[in-house]
Amino acid sequence: MREYETITYRPPYEARSFLLQVTRGCSHGKCTFCTMYRGTPFTTDPFEDVLADIIEAGRLYPDTKRVFLEHGDPFCLSADRLTEIAEAIHRYMPAVQTIAMYASVKNIQTKTDAELKRLRALGINDLNIGVESGLDEALEILGKGYTAVQAEYELKRLTDAGIEYGANVIFGAAGRGLGKKNAEATAGLLNAAQPNTVFTGTIHASPGAPLYEDMRSGKFRDSTIGEYLDEEETLLSGLELKNSRYYSTHPSNISGLKGRLPGDKERLLSELSARRAELSGILDRLPAKKGEEGIILGYV
Ligand code: SF4
Repeated sequence: MREYETITYRPPYEARSFLLQVTRGCSHGKCTFCTMYRGTPFTTDPFEDVLADIIEAGRLYPDTKRVFLEHGDPFCLSADRLTEIAEAIHRYMPAVQTIAMYASVKNIQTKTDAELKRLRALGINDLNIGVESGLDEALEILGKGYTAVQAEYELKRLTDAGIEYGANVIFGAAGRGLGKKNAEATAGLLNAAQPNTVFTGTIHASPGAPLYEDMRSGKFRDSTIGEYLDEEETLLSGLELKNSRYYSTHPSNISGLKGRLPGDKERLLSELSARRAELSGILDRLPAKKGEEGIILGYV
């Protein structure tokens, strides 16, 4: 089995999945807040190497039910290459039911509707997508490389193909004073796209990221605690999801909410109000964040 040459990321819920390296780095690599793969030029692993790992994994871990493809956005691979990989997984790891991975809106653009359906039929599902925002100004600040209209179109195609996905959104992505506008636009995008999970976090950039410099210089201003809570309230109030999970449990969040929409909406809003009451003395202060995850260590 090949060893990973760089730090490798996965969503927390993929902790029990077999991590299969099929690409290195991220095919986009231009998000202004992200330093995850900055030192790793994007490359595609030779199929023979991937196949050798699949064969060995099938021998060592025959009961594996779930595979998570690495690195930043393996869904950038062509539908033919993903088909080749999925077919090899099913051949040598017959217990596998789901092949998940990180993906971006731009990755969907390169696939036809028929190809998306074919990939779903091969067990490719549960994509984790950094949608981030439904507001063009925020998408521009973040350097995502697509507009809100493009995101809506592509995410709907994914949903129509039966591919489920979790959408990550970033509170504060439009900067101070624009939280409600960002939340309204993001709620509109998510309502149209109907992801099966929404993961939220707050904006953060580590040293080395362009946005880090903008935050230090004051060109980009972080939101206050009160604004973050307002933004989440606006998002939650505006969400009309038919059957989705909602998590703001990422350590960069202020609220720490978890539930299922639409059923838990009122409970989540009431927990958000309780959190606001708890923090009533510091609503005009800023969160102090640290590390690549933007963990909130306190308030300044
Ligand atoms: S946030 Fe995701 S898509 Fe953007 S550069 Fe980082 S890994 Fe790539």
